Amino acid sequence: MSAIEKTVRARMIVDELRGAPMVRLVAELPDAAPVAIKEGLARRAAAERDGRCDCGAPLQTPLRPRRRAALKRGQLLRGRIDHTSDCPAATAALEAAMMEHGWSLSIDMTGLRGWSL
Ligand SMILES: [Zn+2]
Repeated sequence: MSAIEKTVRARMIVDELRGAPMVRLVAELPDAAPVAIKEGLARRAAAERDGRCDCGAPLQTPLRPRRRAALKRGQLLRGRIDHTSDCPAATAALEAAMMEHGWSLSIDMTGLRGWSL
């Protein structure tokens, strides 16, 4: 049996949100990852797709004036989700699960070439 590579691979992509460019982090869901990590990543992906997390937190996006200004400047916007503290998708919960099980996160940012954050 080969050793499990304990790395979650993710990449930053440029998506569109109501006419403005928005950055998104797309992470793979490794089969070998512990349930807490897989659940957190799956919830994050679902929340971005559906506009709301299972914990009830909505995806908050910048208002129109900010979207237009960002588009003019060639600047990327970011969405924000304030997960509840007991949500497995919360940053603190995901970081704790990664640390506990010895997993790390590898982010490919080549998709952001030519943009500013
Ligand atoms: Zn949540």
